[in-house]
Amino acid sequence: MDKKWDKLTVTSPLLPDLEEFHSLLKEIWDSKWITNNGEFHRRLEKELAEYLGVPYLSLFTNGTLPLITALQALRITGEVITTPYSFVATTHSLWWNGIKPVFVDVDEKTCNIDPEKVEAAITPHTTAILGVHCYGTPCDTESIKEIADKYGLKVIYDAAHAFGVKDNEGKSILNKGDLSTLSFHATKVYNTIEGGAMVMHDAATKQRIDYLKNFGFAGETTVVAPGINSKMDEIRAAYGLLNLRQVERAIKKRKEVAEKYIEAFKDIHGISCLKISTEYRHNYSYFPIFVDEDKYGLSRDALYEKLKERNIFGRRYFYPLISEFSTYSGLPSAAKENLPVANKLARTVLCLPMHPNLSEEDVDRIIEVVKGERI
Ligand SMILES: *Cc1c(COP(=O)(O)O)cnc(C)c1O
Repeated sequence: MDKKWDKLTVTSPLLPDLEEFHSLLKEIWDSKWITNNGEFHRRLEKELAEYLGVPYLSLFTNGTLPLITALQALRITGEVITTPYSFVATTHSLWWNGIKPVFVDVDEKTCNIDPEKVEAAITPHTTAILGVHCYGTPCDTESIKEIADKYGLKVIYDAAHAFGVKDNEGKSILNKGDLSTLSFHATKVYNTIEGGAMVMHDAATKQRIDYLKNFGFAGETTVVAPGINSKMDEIRAAYGLLNLRQVERAIKKRKEVAEKYIEAFKDIHGISCLKISTEYRHNYSYFPIFVDEDKYGLSRDALYEKLKERNIFGRRYFYPLISEFSTYSGLPSAAKENLPVANKLARTVLCLPMHPNLSEEDVDRIIEVVKGERI
């Protein structure tokens, strides 16, 4: 391996300015208020709701607990229809609620749950649909809503990838469904180191969620529900406020990287990029390519290894499918025959480095390797 080549990772965290962070830490130290709905927590909830264009938002300590809590809050039981093409936390949130996941196949164009497959999977035990806006591409929320309304189902969106995604009228995708959840993990477009949030439509639901994330406390001596502890602390809320100021610039930078990749790969036989619809303001959270071995001449795994040898670390998101993990592989809906598109995507996908710290030279280097121009 050529030692001159810097290591390029699939992502790199957006970090606030250290001096500015230090000055906010000083404020926290002076106040001695370090968690439990402090000033920074309240400010971050307000500023995030404004930035994202959502009416109500509740901060969480990561992106998995709002999923678990959303299912609790809507009292979801029985079976939930969901996608196998996601990060494991999506399905784990069902398992933690004693709910049986029912996997349906995805749409090849969007990598999202295919509404045409959803209706056929509904049984008398079905209570909800749990979709994922994979790579930030919105689900077909209209069709999903129609099906949900017809059968009286709730809809929850795992919007961990969809921070800042809006339609052309500027309306946030996070307002779709009954509840949506976000992750602010270090690897995401916007991070609070670890963190997350739930988006809801009304003040009463926000109040209920705020109780649930704080053990169910509704006052010093009143517990109104069997809540959990998933509060975000003041230090990460302060960090989050600073990162919020630079996330717009980071998304712009991501867009430039994406455009460079798309232009470079458009004529490579056997490499296809995820189609980015002009109907949405995207966040460029990931840059997946799909490798057709017969046309490209190398398998996805061979390309993955080739990049690695050149110190470029892509990730096979999402491979294996969630339905392939032992917890879920025994479910009838996990069968390969039930999920041909998801299985194909999992076999061919490779997410290339995508983050705002990539230089033009970095991107050129990755492109040259994929093009086979750099040995
Ligand atoms: C990151 C992610 C999560 C989990 O978020 P954490 O903050 O790491 O708990 C859930 N779902 C999807 C689709 C994710 O990508």
